[in-house]
Amino acid sequence: MASIAERLTQVRENIDTAMARYERAPGSVKLLAVSKTRTAREILQVAQWGQRAFGENYVQEALLKVDDLAPHKLEWHFIGPIQSNKTRPIAEKFDWVHSVDSLRLLERFDRQRPEDKPPLNVCIQVNISREPQKSGISPEKLAEVAQAASELPRLKLRGLMAIPAPEEDVQRQREPFLALREAMANLHLPELDTLSMGMTNDMEAAIAEGSTMVRIGTAIFGERYKR
Ligand SMILES: *Cc1c(COP(=O)(O)O)cnc(C)c1O
Repeated sequence: MASIAERLTQVRENIDTAMARYERAPGSVKLLAVSKTRTAREILQVAQWGQRAFGENYVQEALLKVDDLAPHKLEWHFIGPIQSNKTRPIAEKFDWVHSVDSLRLLERFDRQRPEDKPPLNVCIQVNISREPQKSGISPEKLAEVAQAASELPRLKLRGLMAIPAPEEDVQRQREPFLALREAMANLHLPELDTLSMGMTNDMEAAIAEGSTMVRIGTAIFGERYKR
């Protein structure tokens, strides 16, 4: 079985290959290592190979790791569903949040971000495949929420995030990613620089459509255990 180091190297090679194939500028796609359910020790193994940015989905689980690994100066991204009574630790301990899907949450994060920290980097999650009961705001509401977010002083709105409905075929995977890229362009907010899209099974399609941050768990750490 491949080691974490071998898998990480393979993921980096796959990113480079896709970037070359779709003529993406060097350095324009960042790797976020998704470490939900993984131990601090596994995270350190990945960090040892130069990976700084890690994504977590569950607040309680994440906080233990964030505190444990504080001496290593990692960059923490919250990417999971957000309950409104759990926003404070996210505002206090994380560098980025990708999964904000209401103005109410944005306003809470803005209030709760500590003054001694830089503004919290935020992506708005969009329900781009329009699936019922899925997280993310509807594309129709995006402009209003993004405009409001861009005016909150303790937040730095960076861009959009989506988790499209699963598709096997790369061409079909590209459609919602294209839609997300166009949705961001249509906001006419020139400071936005982040399209958080692409996971283990649809990374190539996301890079083809302009992803600037791929969120990869399984391909780096191996299959997840059930929680
Ligand atoms: C788990 C998760 C990922 C990583 O998924 P893999 O298929 O393991 O690469 C990416 N984004 C979000 C929001 C996740 O919850």
